[in-house]
Amino acid sequence: GSADLDCDVLVLGGGPGGYSAAFRAADLGLKVVIVERYATLGGVCLNVGCIPSKALLHVAAVMDEVQHLEMAGVKFGAPEVSIDQLRGHKEKVIAKLTGGLGQMAKMRKVTIVRGFGHFVGSHHLEVEETTGAGQDKTGSKKVVQFKNAIIAAGSQAVHLPFMPDDPRVVDSTGALALQGVPKKMLIVGGGIIGLEMGTVYSTLGARLDVVEMMDGLMQGADRDLVKVWQKMNQHRFDNVMLKTKTVGAQATPEGIKVQFEGLDGTQSEGTYDLVLQAVGRTPNGKKIGAEAAGVAVTDRGFIDVNIQMRTNVPHIFAIGDIVGQPMLAHKAVHEAHVAAEVIAGELQGNKELAAAAFNARVIPSVAYTDPEVAWVGLTEDQAKQQGINVKKGLFPWAASGRAIANGRDEGFTKLLFDEASHRILGGGIVGTHAGDMIGEIALAIEMGADSVDIGKTIHPHPTLGESIGMAAEVAHGSCTDVP
Ligand code: FAD
Repeated sequence: GSADLDCDVLVLGGGPGGYSAAFRAADLGLKVVIVERYATLGGVCLNVGCIPSKALLHVAAVMDEVQHLEMAGVKFGAPEVSIDQLRGHKEKVIAKLTGGLGQMAKMRKVTIVRGFGHFVGSHHLEVEETTGAGQDKTGSKKVVQFKNAIIAAGSQAVHLPFMPDDPRVVDSTGALALQGVPKKMLIVGGGIIGLEMGTVYSTLGARLDVVEMMDGLMQGADRDLVKVWQKMNQHRFDNVMLKTKTVGAQATPEGIKVQFEGLDGTQSEGTYDLVLQAVGRTPNGKKIGAEAAGVAVTDRGFIDVNIQMRTNVPHIFAIGDIVGQPMLAHKAVHEAHVAAEVIAGELQGNKELAAAAFNARVIPSVAYTDPEVAWVGLTEDQAKQQGINVKKGLFPWAASGRAIANGRDEGFTKLLFDEASHRILGGGIVGTHAGDMIGEIALAIEMGADSVDIGKTIHPHPTLGESIGMAAEVAHGSCTDVP
C-alpha cells in the first residue's frame, strides 16, 4: 500500500538500543526513522531505569557516607528530606538527558514518529499516534515504509499474577516514581534492580524485607563479593527470606498482606506498606506484530538473532533487551552499532562495514548498591563448573591506603587467571566505585592480558584502581608490599 513516510532504516523503539542504532545509521549517511510510543527518547534506561535509579542512589550514598565522617569527628544532624524536591531533582536529571537525545536526533536529521508501532508487512510498519505523557492514542495512523528495520522494543517488568491492583504494589517504574516513603517495604526478588531500589528506600527510612527463590541474593555475582555487600547492608533488613516463594497477596486496610512458602514447605506471612515486584523483565516481542513481517518470536517473547543481529528475515534486525540476556544498556548500545553498520555496509556496498559482528567476549554487570558490586567474565564457581584450573588473586582493601583513607576498606578486588596460560578469565570488585573500575578488567579480558600485563601496568597511587594491579601481582606471586 501507500506509505506516509519512507526510509532506509526504521528503528522501532527509542531506548539505548534504538537511539544508538539510529544515530550510528544516520552518521553513516542513511535516512532514519525512529518510532517511539513515549514523548521522549531514552527508553527504560533514561526514563525509568539506569539513570533515575542512579540519581536516587547517589543521594542515598551521600546520606549514608556522611555517617562515616563521625569517626573523623565530623557530625551532621539527621537529614531532612523533601520527597517532592528529591523527585523533582530526579525528573530534572532525566529531562536533561532525554532533551539532549532529542537534540542529537535533530542534528542528525533523524525523524521521530511518536506512536505505537506494529508491523503490517515485511517492509511496512503502521504507527498509531500517541500523545501526552503516556501512551494515549489520538486515533490517527501513519504507515512507514522501510528498506531495513531494527527492532529495539525492549522489555517490561514481570508482574506476579496474584498481586492485587493497588497503589501499594509497584514495579521498578512505580518505585522510581517515589510517591512516599513506606515504613515497611517488601522487595520481591533479590536481584540488582530490587536491591538498588531497596537501598534508596531504606536510606530514606523504610525497613526492608526481601524474598528470593534462589539460595542467595544478587544471583550471577561471585558469592564472596555478595557476602561483603550483605554484611554491610544487614542493617537495612528485618528479614532476608531465601529459597522462598511469594505465593499470594491481598490488599487490606492495614497494608498488603503477602504469603510466603519456603522450598522446605514452611509457610509465613507479612504485611507491608509497599511491595516492590522485581522478579525480572519480559521482552516486548509479542506486541509488535512481528508475524506480519515474518519475524520469528520465541514463546517467551524474545527475537533470535545471529552475531550480526539479523533476525530470520534478512533485512530486519533486532537488538537490546528483546534479543535476550543480559538485559543491560551497554549491551544494547554495542548491538545497535553492529546492526546499523551491517545495514549501511550492505546498502552502500562497503564490505568492511557489512561484516560487522557482535563478538564481545564479556559484558560487565554492576549493582550500584553501597558498596557497589561489579563483575565481569567467569566467576570462581563458573570456572570450577567448566573444569578450568584457576589461579586467584585477591587484594583486600584493608590493605589499600586509599580505601583506608576513605574510611571504606570493607571491599576487595578479585581476579581469576587460567593457571596454565596466566590469562585473565574474570574479575570482581566489591567496594565503593567498583562499577567505575570494572571496565579495566573487561578490557584486560578482551585483550587476553595475563597477570604480568596487569601487575606491571603502573596504576596511580593512592587509588582504588590500584587494587586491580595488586590483585594481579598477588596471583602472580610477586606482591611484596602493600600501599
Ligand atoms: P528499552 O530501553 O526498553 O527501550 C525500548 C523502547 O521501545 C521504549 O522506549 C518503548 O517505549 C519503545 N517501544 C516498545 N514497543 C514499542 C512499540 N510497539 N511502538 C513504539 N515504541 C515501542 N541497565 C544497565 O546497563 N545499567 C543499569 O544501571 C540499569 N539499571 C536499570 C534499572 C532499572 C530500574 C531498570 C528497569 C532497568 C535497568 N537497566 C540497567 C536495564 C536497561 O534499562 C535496559 O537494558 C535497556 O533500557 C534496554 O534498552 P533497549 O533499547 O533494548 O530497550
